Amino acid sequence: MNDQDLLRYSRHILLPQIDLDGQQALLDSHAMIIGLGGLGCPVAMYLAAAGVGKITLVDHDRVEVSNLQRQIAHTDADVGRFKVESAAETLRQLNPAIEICCVTEKATLEWLTAELPEVDVLLDCTDNSSIRYQMNDACIATRTPWVSAAATGWAGQLLVFDARQANTPCYRCLYPQLGTDPAGCAESGVAAPLVGVIGSLQAMEALKLLTGAGKAPLGRLMTYDALHSDWQSWQLNVDPGCQSCQGLSSRQAD
Ligand SMILES: [Zn+2]
Repeated sequence: MNDQDLLRYSRHILLPQIDLDGQQALLDSHAMIIGLGGLGCPVAMYLAAAGVGKITLVDHDRVEVSNLQRQIAHTDADVGRFKVESAAETLRQLNPAIEICCVTEKATLEWLTAELPEVDVLLDCTDNSSIRYQMNDACIATRTPWVSAAATGWAGQLLVFDARQANTPCYRCLYPQLGTDPAGCAESGVAAPLVGVIGSLQAMEALKLLTGAGKAPLGRLMTYDALHSDWQSWQLNVDPGCQSCQGLSSRQAD
């Protein structure tokens, strides 16, 4: 780190749980963000500002006018552009020193499994349930920690998984297959700051995973009900019949 870096990241370095070593770990890290919508925008902006050295943005959608109510990395002038390109421009303005990679292909199990060995943390910011199951299986195969979230209406949820830690549940332990999981917000409404609340929590858990600060809430389902200002949390158990993390065969191709 040079003098400018020490100044830029001084409020991190002052935290004993991060310090110089933690900030250097962030600068040396690679985060991949799937989805640059309501959740992905604040996740990407906080991780870029925090100094995560390389960020890969994955999204094949383009910015629409109806996104602008909550997807804060995109502006009115970005309508029609790829979301990853619009977001990358915002991130470069926030922090010109970091590396941003843009992917406009749809993430598949095969693609994720090939890419994740180079990734330190995966952020699930998609509203596509099918891709979420593929993220789960690819993260187990490659031992990549990941932070999953969903937000719709007035309610959001957050889950952190790390297959490197023994006896911790995976996404399929909670939602065994497609259709048992919560639906996304594509067809329903969503209160604008909700995705900021949940996305900021995702960025926080990623920062903890990358620096080693604190303790990851592995396999704990955390939910936020904005209408009633209510937070809840449940510890999940490993499903001994889980097709993914328990290595049982006959996995369905969701
Ligand atoms: Zn499992």
